[in-house]
Amino acid sequence: TYVVTDACIKCKYMDCVEVCPVDCFYEGENMLVINPSECIDCGVCEPECPAEAILPDTEKDVETWLELNATFSAQWPNV
Ligand code: SF4
Repeated sequence: TYVVTDACIKCKYMDCVEVCPVDCFYEGENMLVINPSECIDCGVCEPECPAEAILPDTEKDVETWLELNATFSAQWPNV
């Protein structure tokens, strides 16, 4: 799965949302998250992010953000 990280905070450029084939982005007040159980790991969103906030979960140090993406995507509205 791909993970939205802290570089998204107060950015929310939203181009990632437009390209996601499975609409698995969710929107909070200050950032977006990806629902890890819906993401099909296509990678299309990653280059669309101007803040380089979207990373694959194979990257170092994204475990905490992966957990937060899972938690918040269950609470926030789909976009
Ligand atoms: Fe959507 Fe693909 Fe990005 Fe996952 S990797 S959030 S499926 S665009």
